Amino acid sequence: MSSTLRIHWAIAPEIAPQPLINCNRCGTVKAYRCSGKFRVNANGKRIDVWLIYRCVDCDNSWNFGIFERCNRRDIEPALLQALESNDPGLARRHAFDVIALRNRVGRLEEFPDVVVHKRVLGGTRESAAALELQLGLEMPTSLRLDRLLASELGISRSRLQVLEERRLLVVDPDGAKALRKPARAGMTVRVDLAGEPDHEAIIRSAGG
Ligand SMILES: [Zn+2]
Repeated sequence: MSSTLRIHWAIAPEIAPQPLINCNRCGTVKAYRCSGKFRVNANGKRIDVWLIYRCVDCDNSWNFGIFERCNRRDIEPALLQALESNDPGLARRHAFDVIALRNRVGRLEEFPDVVVHKRVLGGTRESAAALELQLGLEMPTSLRLDRLLASELGISRSRLQVLEERRLLVVDPDGAKALRKPARAGMTVRVDLAGEPDHEAIIRSAGG
């Protein structure tokens, strides 16, 4: 009897979305890249905070409003400190805030690339012929589940489809439709690889 190897995948996006902005210096629409730096402007009791973006070609800047005409009392001192010191975690959270960015600029270039940190939760690698993958996401991704699985398991999307049709691959929740949708936090993917001649290689790719 083969056993199941349980693995947690912590998935983090790699490249922040880039707003597409009519660059007045280039004279055309260009992608703007997050600089990771905030600009804090205190004027009496009023505070404005922007995250600075730069044109990928000419370095022209664009300000993404984080707080605008905000009362100083409404911003926690620790948060203000983090903004003034360009806290990388805070900049990253705002840089990946796709909804807020899209509200400002309308069009964005998004990058599906992710980094996956894999950690075995239980089971024995040697006897394993089945996988249970538990997905954790640092923030929402546009990356489709089948693309994620194909790249991280080293197998084709059509093969994933066949496994799913034979009920050897089961996604919980959402079932069959889930493969074509973005990967989500809390998803569990179970794959029975007992009949696959290359199951050892697949399990190694999965993080086993
Ligand atoms: Zn430019």
